[in-house]
Amino acid sequence: MNISTSDDAARWRGRGVIARYRAYLPVAETTPVISLGEGGTPLIHSPRLSAAIGRACGVFVKYEGLNPTGSFKDRGMTVAVSKAVERGAKMLICASTGNTSASAAAYAARAGIGCAVVLPAGKIASGKMVQAVAYGARIVTIEGNFDQALEIVRALGQRDDFAIVNSINPDRIGGQKTAAFEIVEELGEAPDFHLLPVGNAGNITAYWAGYEDFCNAGKAKRRPKMIGFQAAGAAPIFRGEIVVRPETVATAIRIGKPASWSQAKRAIADSGGMIDIVSDEEILEAQRWLARGEGIFVEPASAAPIAGLLRAAGAEKVTAHFSAASIPDGSRIVCTVTGHGLKDPEALASAIAAARPVPPNETAVLRALDTARS
Ligand SMILES: *Cc1c(COP(=O)(O)O)cnc(C)c1O
Repeated sequence: MNISTSDDAARWRGRGVIARYRAYLPVAETTPVISLGEGGTPLIHSPRLSAAIGRACGVFVKYEGLNPTGSFKDRGMTVAVSKAVERGAKMLICASTGNTSASAAAYAARAGIGCAVVLPAGKIASGKMVQAVAYGARIVTIEGNFDQALEIVRALGQRDDFAIVNSINPDRIGGQKTAAFEIVEELGEAPDFHLLPVGNAGNITAYWAGYEDFCNAGKAKRRPKMIGFQAAGAAPIFRGEIVVRPETVATAIRIGKPASWSQAKRAIADSGGMIDIVSDEEILEAQRWLARGEGIFVEPASAAPIAGLLRAAGAEKVTAHFSAASIPDGSRIVCTVTGHGLKDPEALASAIAAARPVPPNETAVLRALDTARS
């Protein structure tokens, strides 16, 4: 199965999601548009994932790491910041596992306003921290986790001087719907399954709202089953209870009390989908597999749906997990990979540290290449 980007998608590339999907977003003619050209990310057909599932299924990877700050958060941020500026905001505030702060800081800089970010100390991937610094955000780290940071930000947001740009801000969800629009327009129809990682659960909520909007507008005839993946050590929705101390290498989904919990459950139930878990080992293995197998480098959280799909490919029987048995022949499956691999170099740090310099001659380099096969 192959796919070529439609002329329409090419025409809009670089112009941002508000310009392209204004009719579906909460913006007026008078709203100042703060954009960095987000959206229009590639939907990449994956021959190897398709072959792994087999039975004439087509698997596509929506590569959200190619947004301006390297994650899907930019789609929501352009709308949230445009609306905040329209309302006269001078200072944004957010809690973040890293990508929201990177995005908020960039769009605040673009708008010429301030940005305060509250982060869990020691749990932010270095690339994301570098971004918040580079874009000039005021950074506060707390001796606590993301859920505690969000509670503080909710309280500070009661004051007039801060505009919250976490996904509890409905403008964020509005903007993030646009990824579903792009997928439907590119495939000509909604896929049969949509797989994505779930942390605070804003994105699964947004995709479902986007697919519903396009059904209601007559642009799609069906909606996909939504399959969300949490990390086994941070799986409140899967387990049905708050996780007080969530732990996972996938820091972007290291969340124990998702803000959009009930909306995510509704999306999963209404779509006939499911919430599932993958282990940290499966996540890191899938991250490596996708980079080496398809040339797509993503951060650990983004590899969660790939891990789930690879496991499903090997599980023919109906199990408690998402399995091949639940995927009909000829299905179209989209996996959203949410953030760029460069954001989290720590995830691959041991491999980098292992590289030792050799003498500067051909023999030594050839010998080193021989032993460097992995
Ligand atoms: C924010 C984020 C997630 C989780 O998205 P939610 O909307 O919080 O469920 C997953 N992956 C990456 C890379 C993220 O930045």
